[in-house]
Amino acid sequence: MITSFHPPKRTLMGPGPSDVSPRVLEAMSRPTIGHLDPAFVTMMDEVKVLLKQAFKTENALTMPVSAPGSAGMEACFVNLVEPGDKVIVCQNGVFGGRMKENVERFGGEAVMVQDAWGAPVSVEKVKAAFAEHPDAKILAFVHAETSTGVRSDAQALCKVAQDHGALTIVDTVTSLGGSELRVDEWGIDAVYSGTQKCLSCPPGISPVSFSEKALAKVQARETRAPSWFLDKKLVMGYWGGEGKRAYHHTAPVNSLYALHESLVILQEEGVEKAWERHALHHQALKAGLEAMGINFLVDEAYRLPQLNTVLIPEGVDDAQVRSALLNNFNLEIGAGLGDLAGKVWRIGLMGAACNRTNVVLCVSALESTLARMGADIPVGKALQAVEAVYAS
Ligand SMILES: *Cc1c(COP(=O)(O)O)cnc(C)c1O
Repeated sequence: MITSFHPPKRTLMGPGPSDVSPRVLEAMSRPTIGHLDPAFVTMMDEVKVLLKQAFKTENALTMPVSAPGSAGMEACFVNLVEPGDKVIVCQNGVFGGRMKENVERFGGEAVMVQDAWGAPVSVEKVKAAFAEHPDAKILAFVHAETSTGVRSDAQALCKVAQDHGALTIVDTVTSLGGSELRVDEWGIDAVYSGTQKCLSCPPGISPVSFSEKALAKVQARETRAPSWFLDKKLVMGYWGGEGKRAYHHTAPVNSLYALHESLVILQEEGVEKAWERHALHHQALKAGLEAMGINFLVDEAYRLPQLNTVLIPEGVDDAQVRSALLNNFNLEIGAGLGDLAGKVWRIGLMGAACNRTNVVLCVSALESTLARMGADIPVGKALQAVEAVYAS
């Protein structure tokens, strides 16, 4: 007979999901109520208010899509891309490639701007793409590339799009709650994120927000959006309006309790303070890793504090180290993707997982594992380097 499933207790320091705080897990286990229950509708309204604060936006259309980050991405593209629309898509990692797929599947024409994996999106290349394609209607790019640990300059990129009268679609799945993100100030038109990265919620929900300009393009569509579930015009009858809600789909009630709680936690800490916390623990992790001779893939100026991509030391077996960390320390770190597979590790410091205990665990577990495997690294210096950052 198959019995109940009890997952092992892990520390999640990969590219997501991240550690979920006990407060969020407890919120999730509260009684399920009807999704049109007045008490639930009130909670939905609070989620929208809290999401606006997290995104730093006043956009009325700010809501969680009832599906993972990939569905938030599709919600942006399926509503905003009309057949024949030219979209400038920036790719500097895995996720830009998915944006291209979306544009093409919804009948648009993707104009690609390519940058190396490990480099940020080049603002100059985007300017050149607009000069060559002045009829481009949308610019799409990833703010925080989780496949490489690179932050691109969202503010400068949005400025270029605005100068050319184009809308912007920005992937902030890994940035929301972990590093600076200002949707209104930067002029982002459509933004999507996820719950399982720096919000430290279980996966499965995707917060999105559309500006007035983006909403106007959706309202003016000549063709229906080719997705019933993600059509913003329909879903707003459920998530929008004052009090009155029309059934569209059944919201994942308990997952939304979790999102609500995680956003309350973020509000208590303060969004800016959360960014500072991620920056601090990143510095400590960096000091520890560098003290054992481990280097970063990305230039310091473009590093994401919440996703640390480091080069695997010469002669070390990637999979062996990761499984030793998992089996001996219950510690998960991420592998490299695509061309970076086997060459890098991706160490996440996301949301609730971004704390001093985890930094010390990761640095000491990695040092002892590498030393035991005979890697040629300096031993006995890393923890001192970590503590020096916290003492300063
Ligand atoms: C994780 C991630 C996604 C996809 O989110 P899912 O919840 O896995 O669908 C999209 N973009 C970026 C940058 C991500 O890190």
